[in-house]
Amino acid sequence: MPGTNLTRDEAATRAALLDVTSYSIDLDLTTGDTTFGSTTTIEFTCSQPGSSTFADLVGATVHEITLNGESIDPATAYADHRIALSGLAADNVLVVRADCTYSRTGEGLHRFVDPADDRVYLYSQFEVPDARRVYTTFEQPDLKAPFTFNVTAPTGWKVVSNSATPEPKEIGEGVSLWNFAPTKPMSTYITALVAGEYHEVQHVYRGKHGDIPLGHYCRQSLVEHLDVEELVKLTEQGFAFFEDLFDYPYPFGKYDQLYVPEYNMGAMENAGCVTLRDEYLPRSRQDRSFYEFRAEVILHEMAHMWFGDLVTMRWWDDLWLNESFAEWACYHAAVEATEFTESWVGFTNARKNWAYRQDQLPSTHPIAADNYDLQAVEVNFDGITYAKGASVLKQLVAWVGLENFLEGIRGYFKDFEFSNSEFTDLLAALEKSSGRELESWAQEWLQTSGVNTLAPEFELDEDGRFTSFAVRQTAAADYPTLRRHRLGIGLYDEVEGRLVRRTSIEIDVEGAKTQVHDLIGQQQPALLLLNEGDLAYAKIRLDDRSLATVVDGLATLDDPLARALCWGAAWDMTRDAEMSATAFVKLVLSAVGSETDAFGVSRIPGYAAQAINAYSAPDNRAALKATWEQGIRELFVAAEAGSDHQLSFARAYASAAHSDQALTDLEGLLDGTVSFEGLAVDTDLRWLLLNSLVKAGRAGVEAIDAELARDNTISGQEHHGAALALRPTAEAKADAWASAVERDDIPNETQRSIVLAFQVFGQEEFLAPYVEKYLAVADTMWEEKGTQRASTALEYLFPRPLASQQLLDRVDAWLESSPANPAAKRYVREGRADVARALAAQAKDADPS
Ligand SMILES: [Zn+2]
Repeated sequence: MPGTNLTRDEAATRAALLDVTSYSIDLDLTTGDTTFGSTTTIEFTCSQPGSSTFADLVGATVHEITLNGESIDPATAYADHRIALSGLAADNVLVVRADCTYSRTGEGLHRFVDPADDRVYLYSQFEVPDARRVYTTFEQPDLKAPFTFNVTAPTGWKVVSNSATPEPKEIGEGVSLWNFAPTKPMSTYITALVAGEYHEVQHVYRGKHGDIPLGHYCRQSLVEHLDVEELVKLTEQGFAFFEDLFDYPYPFGKYDQLYVPEYNMGAMENAGCVTLRDEYLPRSRQDRSFYEFRAEVILHEMAHMWFGDLVTMRWWDDLWLNESFAEWACYHAAVEATEFTESWVGFTNARKNWAYRQDQLPSTHPIAADNYDLQAVEVNFDGITYAKGASVLKQLVAWVGLENFLEGIRGYFKDFEFSNSEFTDLLAALEKSSGRELESWAQEWLQTSGVNTLAPEFELDEDGRFTSFAVRQTAAADYPTLRRHRLGIGLYDEVEGRLVRRTSIEIDVEGAKTQVHDLIGQQQPALLLLNEGDLAYAKIRLDDRSLATVVDGLATLDDPLARALCWGAAWDMTRDAEMSATAFVKLVLSAVGSETDAFGVSRIPGYAAQAINAYSAPDNRAALKATWEQGIRELFVAAEAGSDHQLSFARAYASAAHSDQALTDLEGLLDGTVSFEGLAVDTDLRWLLLNSLVKAGRAGVEAIDAELARDNTISGQEHHGAALALRPTAEAKADAWASAVERDDIPNETQRSIVLAFQVFGQEEFLAPYVEKYLAVADTMWEEKGTQRASTALEYLFPRPLASQQLLDRVDAWLESSPANPAAKRYVREGRADVARALAAQAKDADPS
């Protein structure tokens, strides 16, 4: 039984047999709150008349199927989410009339009723295989076709799809019909439908290739937060940059961006109809990293219009290329075309750490993953596919040169427009434009797993000059590949109280040991920084003197990218049990106050909190928590009024608060008896303050309900669910567990909020029963609750606060015997790896010598 799965081989067989001429899709959104009418007409040719194939349709009630005018009985033909088709002609017309189900998990056509005003909002989300939840499809990216949508919906609704929205025709009392023009040829997964009582704003971008209408949409209850001038500015900057960079006019006519509720990811590149999570419209004060990240998301989706939508991967094996290219392009565009010129520093401070972490989990995989079926694809939207891929693509750009890279890309867009391609096609284009052999580079970087570690190795004479210098390259035992790296090396001296770069060099590292003759005779610097300029994708190590310099004086290093590399090295050494959690927390307290990078300021306090909770020795933890609470309070109080530092440290202080004095501070901030100049205690900060009081048992249901009454929105409901789950009682955990893994009526984002709040360090006594419950759920949840619910629950409900050898042994036994599918087991293996890492780090913190 395939269930909802589909293999690469099945898709290849179907693609060899069929060509799709067109889809015509009639959707009726006026038939009720749980289902909608869906009639699909697919015209397609078959290269071997007489043969058989199947179409895809998930969870539908099928009323009628006709193939070439002949009726097929749904009772026999529709099974297991597939419609069997036999006796194909050379030219075929398939008509399927069905009722499909609205989604509450963000997969397919999601239906949302806004608690703020009871208005109705729908949006589709189809990647990877969920168009088949809304209409009958051949659900694979390489069967492209033009799509014609005809949508019946309540009069007065906004209805948006890939083609420009037509003037609706009133066809009945309060009911209208929207007949969209056919789209350009595209894949099913980037088709889209958004409908409901949305607020709409229209602008026009006047570009070098002509006008592009720009729509912005959001819920009515969010209109006051829609900072549309800023969004239009970024969108126009993006189009001006990409149309020029790619030398290809934007291919899909108009460009709508729709901010939608209960969205599972950041955003989705539906052709001309981009959906984004509406948390990107700030309802509370946000720091610069929020706006920087949002700009990158907007540019990422826009880059996909060319790379992904115009030219599309043949199968999901090239998902990495799709995402890595959009990532590289969005950072490149942010730096070159927007005010966020420091975006590559943020990439180092946040994104790259995601890649390094993912690459050291047992689930790591080659960037070019073997996505043999849909289940394999769905768990690979990860730090390898996005962040490692982008890091490596950045190297490829350096390897062939930006101009050669762009020349190759431009030819590739023209050669493969409105069709499908594979990575080898792009590689061939780049080899042609650069004149370089790239096959071995691709083998080394894309088809192997794991991250290398680079460390300096040197000897000094009695005056402190290098008499030898080499870069030592190592690899994890399971992934022994050593790679070629372009590596910067920076030498920094202490000059009048600052760390100042004396010189830097660039070398090619290859093999286990690379001699660096250029440094012989140089005085040993206070700080020797490998990967200066962040050209390489590798973990770096600091020698003893450099580590001491960083611990004492990181704040005196002026270059933000060099600082980001030092932060990264220290965090990585802490995770690898080479630096104690206590020393890491001390470093954060000494230097984060003067950090200037937006992602540095917002993310590094979170690393410190993780070091305390997971990586500190149990005997040291209480003292370290006290040091952190006190230290972050001092940074918060000292921060400039109204600054991002003040906001970031206020959040960190709220999360750290556990002493009587600190909790009293939080109560004062909440009830207004304590205030700090420049700090707005707004809606989202209020929830954060309340959460800490709830976690500590200083506030309960009454206060949580009262907060929801002040914030009667979907965000408020999500916060409410999380706050209830944070309570330190057996009953609270039992209720939260039922909502997170058992009930089917909890919408996706509310479930996620509850899941994220469940496992709390310090609440071990209430969490102990959930080891066995978690493992029991992991056996079957994927099949019973679907990809979205199961992946969220299994990833974050792993009992990390209960780290112990006993837990590892129990999980090992489960991994041996459980019938769970590979996707479910992947999350359990990852949780196990986190626990093993934590235990090693705790031992280092107990004995730092
Ligand atoms: Zn993407």
